[in-house]
Amino acid sequence: MRAGAEQLLAEPSRWTSARRKADGKPFSIVRGRTNTYYTTADAYTCRGFRERGICSHSLAATMREADEAARLNPSELPVATTFGSRFTR
Ligand SMILES: [Zn+2]
Repeated sequence: MRAGAEQLLAEPSRWTSARRKADGKPFSIVRGRTNTYYTTADAYTCRGFRERGICSHSLAATMREADEAARLNPSELPVATTFGSRFTR
């Protein structure tokens, strides 16, 4: 599953970032081998996620979000957190 997630991450052309019109919430469109999935932080449309709670798509999306968060300047974060020291140098 992790290999699948890394494979998805290695192919940025599979990802399209978008925002939900209703509430502006960001989501990703992921083109898998056989299907296209829609992912948000709390929901994935693929069967594997619904049945098991985790799948290569949700894992890849989580890894992508963590990667993007790590690149943020701490001053750009909306809320100061107790684990902010992780971002100091
Ligand atoms: Zn999935």
